[in-house]
Amino acid sequence: MASVVVTGVTGQDGSYLAERLIGDGWDVHAIVRDGKHADEQEITPGVTVHAGDLVDIASMRSVIDVVEPDLIVNLAGISSVAQSWSQPELTARVTGLAVSGLLAGAWDLQERLGRPVRFVQASSSEIFGAAEQRPQTETTPIAPISPYGAAKAYAHHLVGVYRGRGLFASSAILYNHESPRRPETFVTRKITRGVARIVNGDSTSLLLGNLDARRDWGWAPDYVDALLLIAEADAADTFIVATGVEHSVRDFVAAAFAAAGISDWKSLVELDPRFARPVDAPIMLGDNSKIRETLGWSPTLSFDETVHAMVTHDLELLA
Ligand code: GDP
Repeated sequence: MASVVVTGVTGQDGSYLAERLIGDGWDVHAIVRDGKHADEQEITPGVTVHAGDLVDIASMRSVIDVVEPDLIVNLAGISSVAQSWSQPELTARVTGLAVSGLLAGAWDLQERLGRPVRFVQASSSEIFGAAEQRPQTETTPIAPISPYGAAKAYAHHLVGVYRGRGLFASSAILYNHESPRRPETFVTRKITRGVARIVNGDSTSLLLGNLDARRDWGWAPDYVDALLLIAEADAADTFIVATGVEHSVRDFVAAAFAAAGISDWKSLVELDPRFARPVDAPIMLGDNSKIRETLGWSPTLSFDETVHAMVTHDLELLA
């Protein structure tokens, strides 16, 4: 049985990935902060939990040394751009610097065991900042505009450095990907929960930072499938994972209210500057040609289906 170490297993992507890996027969190990309280957190059954913290590189390296995994998937870190503005230093440490520890750990293990150790990094469209090129491809210049994007850019470059050194180290440049497991720090879940609260009579309005930003929103389980295809590919590489379709926050709001049977939503949404970003990319759009053609990946859910699944879930939660 092949073994894998996953960081970020308590998050949206980590939980979907762990379920997938367990189902596929992998021996799954997770590095979890405050591991001694792991039983109080939602961790997929069958996953072996190890205590470790991204700010404590020695703790992560010791898990790698003990487990001797065939594969390491790094999903952990501050994952919200909004949060990275309030905690830039922590973001640099857990989203950026921690990756250097994981890569060095993978490299040293590969040297010690004399067999390949694979590494897959969840990179992000935020490394492109407010890219002029549209859609972005794997060769679009890296020019982040948020602390989160800068930390992810450092990690992304370092993955390339270790690939050059001979480690199977790949980056998946993930565009926004959503599901009912998204926290409300992300605009999609904030909208779908907000719509459900309004329908339920618990709230009268939805407060948002701006309605004009455009994003390439996909369905999170599809992105987890992409991570596995990348991990099992013939060669390490960089792949954009995106739908290739962009929508505005306004489109998302309209689709979410429509999924709840409300067509006239304008009086229910208010702009609130507290939720506007100091700097924000107006449009993000990814070109997924490379992963489609090389690994045969394609998204299974459309934008409307993704919104519908999230709204249906949130209506059920409040029912
Ligand atoms: P991001 O693209 O990784 O930052 O994902 P988010 O879901 O946090 O934000 C997506 C877009 O929605 C960004 O352009 C935000 O500025 C915009 N947005 C507009 N209103 C809000 C809001 O109230 N909360 C959040 N999180 N984003 C908002």
